[in-house]
Amino acid sequence: MANTVTFVSLGPGDPSLITLKGLKQLQEADIIYAPSTQLKSGKVSSRAYDIITSLGIDSAKIKLFNVPMSKNRDLAVNAYQEVSELIYQAHLEGYQIAISAEGDAGFYSSSHYVTEYLKLKNIEVDKIPGIPAFIASGALAHLHIAKQEEELHVVPGILSLAELTDKLNAGHAVVVMKASQCEEVIKAAIKEFPETSFHYFENVGLPTEFYTQDTSTILARSFPYFSLLIIKNEAE
Ligand code: SAH
Repeated sequence: MANTVTFVSLGPGDPSLITLKGLKQLQEADIIYAPSTQLKSGKVSSRAYDIITSLGIDSAKIKLFNVPMSKNRDLAVNAYQEVSELIYQAHLEGYQIAISAEGDAGFYSSSHYVTEYLKLKNIEVDKIPGIPAFIASGALAHLHIAKQEEELHVVPGILSLAELTDKLNAGHAVVVMKASQCEEVIKAAIKEFPETSFHYFENVGLPTEFYTQDTSTILARSFPYFSLLIIKNEAE
């Protein structure tokens, strides 16, 4: 069997939300690359590592690569460039490689840098889909994320109040990813749209999971990196 490079989507955090196909790929891989971040305390943390090891996969085959969590994207791009070169070399040496990504590997995942690098080297990569965090969030809150003719708009955290206002006035359901980047905009919209439901989520699928739709709780909250919102007009 030819050696492969496969992106494996891990799901949002609860290890049992990986697919059977993704799990099989992790079991068969010789090397699994997993992103990690260095916390302010200096401690290295990797949600991907935690998910993979709790699935009973041998930790000895996991290689962590540090992705700086800075607003300066160049630092993250450099980190991905470096790990892409390592992955390329390991592929040439004949190893079967899995590159893990949280949620779905094709949805706001910085693993796309690796895909682009390997494409330039004419290496085919496979991708195994997974459950994105906003889908798991919808299930946690028993939401029907979009129904009938309703449009769903998924936006990253770089969002102005005017843009969000337009979407809500048009009656669209909105998923805000990377909510920490637009905390002030969300808080202003909560005051402007008192009839709209703001469902706020942190760390879905993890022991630190948090969900509320209580606006005063959201207003008092400092949004961490792993937070998102589903905003909907639920009045019938
Ligand atoms: N590929 C991922 C998205 C990565 S972008 C996916 O498919 O879901 C990173 C953003 O995803 C975070 O800023 C946060 O908004 C969201 N996110 C990822 N995992 C999350 C979780 N477990 N709980 C809440 N938000 C999460």
